[in-house]
Amino acid sequence: MRPELFLVLAAVTCAAGKPLSKAATAKNKLLLISFDGFRWDYDQDVETPHLDRLVVDGVKAKYITPPMLTMTSPSHFTTITGRWVEDHEVVHNMMFNATTNLKVPHKQTLTRSEWWDNGVLPLWITAQNQGLKTASFFYPGGGANYSGQAVTRAVVEEVGHPDDNETEWRQNVDTVLNWFTEEDFDFVTLYYGEPDNVGHAKGPDHPRRKEIIRQIDRTIGYLREAISRLDLNDSLNVIITSDHGMTTVKKRPQVDEIILNKYLNLIQLNSFELLDYGGFGILTPRPGQEQKVFDALSNAPNLTVYKKDEIPESFHLAKSKRLPPIVVVADLGFNLNSRFIVYVNKGDHGYHNGEMDMKTIFRAFGPSFKRNFLSEPFDSIHIYPLMCHLLQIQPAPHNGSLAVTENMLQHNGGLQRAPVSVAVLLSMLISMFYVL
Ligand SMILES: [Zn+2]
Repeated sequence: MRPELFLVLAAVTCAAGKPLSKAATAKNKLLLISFDGFRWDYDQDVETPHLDRLVVDGVKAKYITPPMLTMTSPSHFTTITGRWVEDHEVVHNMMFNATTNLKVPHKQTLTRSEWWDNGVLPLWITAQNQGLKTASFFYPGGGANYSGQAVTRAVVEEVGHPDDNETEWRQNVDTVLNWFTEEDFDFVTLYYGEPDNVGHAKGPDHPRRKEIIRQIDRTIGYLREAISRLDLNDSLNVIITSDHGMTTVKKRPQVDEIILNKYLNLIQLNSFELLDYGGFGILTPRPGQEQKVFDALSNAPNLTVYKKDEIPESFHLAKSKRLPPIVVVADLGFNLNSRFIVYVNKGDHGYHNGEMDMKTIFRAFGPSFKRNFLSEPFDSIHIYPLMCHLLQIQPAPHNGSLAVTENMLQHNGGLQRAPVSVAVLLSMLISMFYVL
């Protein structure tokens, strides 16, 4: 036998006869971190050495655009499903029912599957169905069941849980990294409730917001140290992003604040409304009153009113079955007060996603990502196919495109090569016979 042929035969025999080692088949793992309400430019007026370092060691997008509507639950669920809000139907932070007048605050929705499970599978479940092990730490939607399936491990944030404890932030980093190293999880989502809370309470320009950005920066430094300590640099990809930005709420005497009841009699004309919640409002007119409500609000200053079926296509909201017939979007910085000004927030969101103040961040690093790569802005909906690609799984139907983000990946896609199948080796062998 010619020596070349012997070598090929030996290679085929080895590959076919021996189970592939864990190292040969291992895929990279993925950690998705979201810092709620991290406006795209929050790192530009504060010293953030660790975020700056990420720009050199990985990928930064100039900014990203969240979906309409720019709220925590709808936007996070678009990131984890790759679907527009009209498709996944998580159309508000508050769970509501316009018929029964039920309204459930955001944190109490986190384990209410009937709010989250509308036929669209989030990435945790799709990945689990393809053999991966996934977990969610505080990430919105992680505590619900989807078609009867739960995320393998889900830690849900309790009502009243403090969002800004730096010691706990580090413990949470340790916890999820241990899930990767000790228990072989493949995909974990980790959520932090800041800088959103501070942005609401103090406004985006307050010194306290800058302090919390420094705290986030230190946490990212801690994360990177821990990744090195646990020897995960070559096997863990990390995406850091957020759900929306934040803007200063305009108040008297600078502006005349909106009070909707000045323009229409809410009690007489409406059977349901969700107002006093930032820049996005919804109303269900009483039977036969829809045009009257629409006309009245059309005359109100500093807001835009839409009939649901006439919402611009770019909002991707019109198809929603859950949204009531009337949707109101306030001009940037105006709150939609219903009857009185009971509203205390100094910062808010929920405004048009075209406003720069609603844009948010995207950073990524790890073995699959280029270094020192500045990406053009893109829509957050495209994060989903990127994550599926990184995890080497077949995506569920989605509205994103890998073409938007693939230029940030290493040229080989940054993926470890899939093991060569026996069939491929045999065909190589047959072609070798012709050569020999
Ligand atoms: Zn918020």
